[in-house]
Amino acid sequence: MSGQGISDTDVNAILDYGFSYVGNVIRKLNEIDRIGFTEDDEGFPEGKVKLKQHLIRERNPLVIKFAKERFLQKQNKLFCEVCEFDFQQHYGELGVGYIEGHHTKPVSEMEDNQETKVEDIALVCANCQRMLHCKRPWLSTNELKQLLHMQR
Ligand SMILES: [Zn+2]
Ligand SMILES: [Zn+2]
Repeated sequence: MSGQGISDTDVNAILDYGFSYVGNVIRKLNEIDRIGFTEDDEGFPEGKVKLKQHLIRERNPLVIKFAKERFLQKQNKLFCEVCEFDFQQHYGELGVGYIEGHHTKPVSEMEDNQETKVEDIALVCANCQRMLHCKRPWLSTNELKQLLHMQR
């Protein structure tokens, strides 16, 4: 890994304890922003570092916050960009403000120290987030969208 010295051990520590690397600051995240590893991820050692970087980007609370704000301004409510699931509509008070951020740039195209832009974040529900990450190479949000409509 190149760049501003975040070692693999650091990355592991961050992921194990639910911290996110933001600039030079390590911040504790809400449980809500955490996306766990699946056993599946263990089988891809060559992609592991990139995967970790990707997931760390998705746990960047600031960029997710901005993405949510922008989405709210446009749509007036938060819903999954793939399946249109609206947590508030389904869970009431409990679901207010809940949505997950998914980093849409393919892992292979990401530079180590590249900043995450708001437009690289898709807002998705927990199910779609999982589905986006469950196959290699990862599906795009559009591909997942198509899959959903096909099976309806
Ligand atoms: Zn969804
Ligand atoms: Zn994701």
